[in-house]
Amino acid sequence: MGAEFVVQVEESLVPLFKRLCLNGYTQHPTLGRMAWQNVASTVGTAVSRMDPSIKEVYTYMDKYDLYDIAPTAGKVSYGFTGYIPVYEAPFIVMSARQNQEDLLSFAHEFGHFTDMYLNYGNNSVLDLSECASQGMEFLMLSYLPQSQKDLQNLLVEYKMYDTLYVYVLQSAYTAFEQEVYALPAGEVTLSKINQIARKISTRFALQEDDINFKTNWVQIPHFFQEGFYCISYCVSGDVAFQIYQAECAQAGSGVDLYLDLIHWNSEQTFLENLQRVNLKNPCEKTRVQELAQFLSDYFTQEMSLAA
Ligand SMILES: [Zn+2]
Repeated sequence: MGAEFVVQVEESLVPLFKRLCLNGYTQHPTLGRMAWQNVASTVGTAVSRMDPSIKEVYTYMDKYDLYDIAPTAGKVSYGFTGYIPVYEAPFIVMSARQNQEDLLSFAHEFGHFTDMYLNYGNNSVLDLSECASQGMEFLMLSYLPQSQKDLQNLLVEYKMYDTLYVYVLQSAYTAFEQEVYALPAGEVTLSKINQIARKISTRFALQEDDINFKTNWVQIPHFFQEGFYCISYCVSGDVAFQIYQAECAQAGSGVDLYLDLIHWNSEQTFLENLQRVNLKNPCEKTRVQELAQFLSDYFTQEMSLAA
């Protein structure tokens, strides 16, 4: 399924990625500065407009101070959400970068928070929990109030580019892994690994530095410890994107879908949970093509790109 998925990405999304590069669109749009004190309230306003049950989660988190996002010295540089059993409550830790990307990071962690709150910390598999977090990022964007239209447009553009970039990059890593894992044991040498990485960077229109880590492979354990780590970015990201598309098609339906999905059936697999709420298998050809069409329409309209 993974190999077939990579083929679809190469056929549908890499051409769009190349077209953007040719039009000079080679990196994420620049986001503005934002004081960390404004992050939670901005996200809180948006998520409280979604649904009474999500508003309840946010109100609970805020009332009991179950998050710490201040950028203080010595704090971890990444964000995470953990469940504290004696409190029967989740807790968010994040070190704000003091730019508007913090809104996406905080919404991401609030998605994990919502999942843990509603499920009492019963952890689902990684792919499902990342659907909850990334789905919340997209929904937060949809529910920013009218007074923040400019911010909304900028963050939507950021997420559209990011979605395309993550798909291309993580699919390239997946293709790379498949080739390296298929090598006979005696041929797994540094020069052979780097040769494959160079070839893949050209195939996926990436900068060589994006994928050729030279001797630093040893510092990225998931490449040799967790074979399906890279593709999971695309798979969970696509489920979040399907929720966003539902919300764009009809206000409220993305939120309903999100809430249905995160009431996971723990007896079911990832794909069975998707089927349960009528979401599509992210690896299917028709789904990858649908995503490519949506992104292509967005960039063609918003960026006035020549077809
Ligand atoms: Zn996450």
